[in-house]
Amino acid sequence: MPSSVKPPRGRDVQLNGPISVVDTACPLDCPDACSLAVSVQNGKVLTIDGSKRNPVTDGFICAKVRKFDQRVYGPDRILSPGIRKGRKGDGRFETVTWDAAMARIVEKMEEAKAKWGAESILPYSYGGSNGLLTQNTLDATLWRRYGTSRLARTVCAAPTGAANMGLYGKMPAVVYEDYPDAKLIILWGVNPNASGIHLIPYVREAQSRGAKLVVIDPRSTQLGRAADVHLAVKPGTDVVVALALHRFLFANGLADTAFLDEHATHVDALRERAEPWTFARAAEVAGVDAAQLEQVARLYAESSPALVRCGWGLERNRNGGSAAAASLALPAVGGKFGVRGGGYSMSNSASWGITPSWIGADEPETRLVNMNHLGRALLEYTDPPVQMLFVYNCNPAATVPDQRRIIEGLQRDDLFTVVFEQVMTDTAMYADVVLPATTFLENYDFAKSYGNISLELVRPVIEPYGEARPNADVFGELCTRLGLLHDDEPAGELDLMLKVIEGLPPQVTDAIREDRVPAPPFGTRPIQFVDVFPNTPDGKIDLCPVDLDASAAAGLYAYQPDPGTEQYPLALISPASEKTISSTLGELPGADTKLLMHPDDAAVRGLEDNDGVRVFNALGEVHCTLSVLPTIRPGTVSLAKGLWRRSMRNSQTGTALVPDTLTDIGGGACFNDARVQVASLPSA
Ligand code: SF4
Repeated sequence: MPSSVKPPRGRDVQLNGPISVVDTACPLDCPDACSLAVSVQNGKVLTIDGSKRNPVTDGFICAKVRKFDQRVYGPDRILSPGIRKGRKGDGRFETVTWDAAMARIVEKMEEAKAKWGAESILPYSYGGSNGLLTQNTLDATLWRRYGTSRLARTVCAAPTGAANMGLYGKMPAVVYEDYPDAKLIILWGVNPNASGIHLIPYVREAQSRGAKLVVIDPRSTQLGRAADVHLAVKPGTDVVVALALHRFLFANGLADTAFLDEHATHVDALRERAEPWTFARAAEVAGVDAAQLEQVARLYAESSPALVRCGWGLERNRNGGSAAAASLALPAVGGKFGVRGGGYSMSNSASWGITPSWIGADEPETRLVNMNHLGRALLEYTDPPVQMLFVYNCNPAATVPDQRRIIEGLQRDDLFTVVFEQVMTDTAMYADVVLPATTFLENYDFAKSYGNISLELVRPVIEPYGEARPNADVFGELCTRLGLLHDDEPAGELDLMLKVIEGLPPQVTDAIREDRVPAPPFGTRPIQFVDVFPNTPDGKIDLCPVDLDASAAAGLYAYQPDPGTEQYPLALISPASEKTISSTLGELPGADTKLLMHPDDAAVRGLEDNDGVRVFNALGEVHCTLSVLPTIRPGTVSLAKGLWRRSMRNSQTGTALVPDTLTDIGGGACFNDARVQVASLPSA
């Protein structure tokens, strides 16, 4: 801990005084962006609850954010700036003033720029906050104007995003309220029990009205167990399952050729690539029953409205972009658009059509570093080498593939690392300078959902804890110290907020003034191909975009075989858990740290429930406890996403076993291509 100040615990500190309830919203990396009601007494958070202001999130929230005060006031909170005083990784810091810390950072930036060029500085961030103010604002101005390396922010949603952009130009997707109108819902690679809980009541309502439910997931999730069909596919094979459905539609005269003629291009390319995927062949590759696969195809062909919910689970492998594209193409081929509850549902992050006009500079042509290659960037890049790393909204030492090499890179004596964070993460432990960041309970922001379509003001409900500062203030100050801002430009959170409000659509600014949730520009519940249409250059669906096809090494919709070997035969997946939001809150006790394995796989290895096990491959080795349950398909094991190193017996997490290979399109992470062996851990 960087300070000797022992923080009080929120619920323990006050017994009396007036209680106020503050309306705010959750900007964390979750599809729902809940409205929140936070009660505060004597300047401390008492309770965090849902508010009914947003009718979709309807007054209830997840258990994760209910306990967010434990992060705010917990022992891991970074309370003041600190400069490293031990070895890298020890996590020992001498408390310094903000002025001293900022001066040191500026000095090291200038030194790196003078010696190696500004591209030797690598800014590194992801979705610790999805708010409009806390990412891609003054930070972007700083990095662009200074000429640092750029970061391809691809650890999640890059392949699905590329597919959605290529096929539909990110057309707004079906919203939660329209699920009950569907007669068939296919939940593909998504588990709302862990992420996006507000979808569940709508799925249940659809079922109560007679809708069929299909769940495609290697695990038997709660919704999977309530489904009419659960296809427990092998990780990485979703693309062939989707292509088999396409083949069935084309081959049996069930494709909506009139719709395709009018609204789609490159139909033949998709048809030809689907042609080899008979039910028998796809079922063999995917490890599912061919009759079940045919049942899903027939259900899809016969049902209307039919809705495909494309999640992020199917993208996390070598075929992930093609899988997303093939599943998103189904409503076009099946003729499922044009009715409420029909079509597809995916990220609605682009549905507001907001362009960040508040970034003070265009993106330069500097080096682009894929964030999934952090380990190799730190250890191998030479032109120029990465000499300075600035991490915020992100904990790559726990969340990014190839953990061993990332840690090795972070240990480099000649690397200067800044971590601007709320708590002492696995990455912050390796910092040369730590800066304390506010949480969303301490700063302004705008929470934009990406499951549904909502946008709400996030208000600070308490004063910044310790010496924490908002992102915009810190990046604004760095810009100012480096002389990068013009006189009329925002230099801090409040100025920036005004500038952002100016750049939002008018109905959003009106709603913010009137303290209500705004309706999106095209109506609150858009029907695809009635209210909203593809945003592609020709307004049509492109079923095989040329640029995606060219960028995929084996072409779009190609199936690249399983990377398993005799030595490492088990597919390791790392799905979202009910305990953390990516790795946020991973510092709290109670994380789900057990490796889930099917009883058949356990039996052949002589393993039993609660055994200590080694999970290993050529990249690393993770020690944890085994959970033997039939809720996962044989040949696949699961370890939760977002675990911290402290949660594991040997300080390595699942990312130590993940190669830094990239998805077929979009440059995404191949988390689910980790292939491992599991063996008993000799008792100490
Ligand atoms: S993490 Fe998701 S479900 Fe939980 S409060 Fe935030 S938006 Fe709501």
